[in-house]
Amino acid sequence: MSVNNEQIVSQTNQQSKLRIEVVSVSKSYHQKTAIKDITFSVHAGEFVAVLGPSGAGKTTLFRCMVGLQKPDHGHVSLLGNNITQLHRSQRRSMAVIFQQFNLVNRISALDNVLAGRLGHTPAWRGWLKQFTRQDRLLALDCLNRVGLINKAMQRADTLSGGEQQRVAIARALAQQPDVIIADEPVASLDPKIGSEILDILYNICKKDGVAVICSLHQLQFAQKYADRIVGLANGRLVVDSNTQSFDANLAAQLYGNSGLTEMR
Ligand code: ADP
Repeated sequence: MSVNNEQIVSQTNQQSKLRIEVVSVSKSYHQKTAIKDITFSVHAGEFVAVLGPSGAGKTTLFRCMVGLQKPDHGHVSLLGNNITQLHRSQRRSMAVIFQQFNLVNRISALDNVLAGRLGHTPAWRGWLKQFTRQDRLLALDCLNRVGLINKAMQRADTLSGGEQQRVAIARALAQQPDVIIADEPVASLDPKIGSEILDILYNICKKDGVAVICSLHQLQFAQKYADRIVGLANGRLVVDSNTQSFDANLAAQLYGNSGLTEMR
């Protein structure tokens, strides 16, 4: 094969692995810029950590990425389609995990995970909670993967914080997504439990080839789990670096003088 053909095949492979693209996204609130001209993309099997001090624009960026907020300029594409124009069946390829877990408290862990199948289920079946045997087996398998099969029938609000976040991850898995957006998924958990949660997300990313974009407060977690670090400061993207190259200089661009402390 000639070099040119190899280049074309390699570019095509890269494009076919492209999962989410953020293109020149800007958003202001009352004429005050929250994020400005943010561009980056994430491929299958890539774990990207989004870092930045409080007020940097992470939440606004995530809201634009999941389609809760329409950017003033630019767009977000999920598998090549504008996120604001997706059908229900296309939307299911993105799963979202929240800091506060967002489970339905009064129902079992298993029923919460089954909610992840709603995007794959005709609406009437969802309303009647008539999930197929296959869906139920898949939901149990997802609970098994997060180590909670023994708590399948337990009410969500009787689980610990770490367990609730595992259920939320199982629900995301049941969606069989191409992309997982995790908005500070370990901010409410102690470091040991947080590390267990990130282990699970990392395994899903690498085993299932899911693109994971995860905002984090702790630089140490980003350095342990992420392939790439995207950093925001004052609403701008100031860092887009593979994790090995993320050094004190880049930390200082993100966190100012406190960057060196963050690196320790
Ligand atoms: P982060 O998640 O990094 O803390 P945010 O995206 O929450 O950052 O905030 C970025 C900037 O946008 C901040 O200056 C914040 O005050 C402002 N902001 C965020 N949401 C709103 C809103 N709903 N109305 C007005 N200003 C907002």
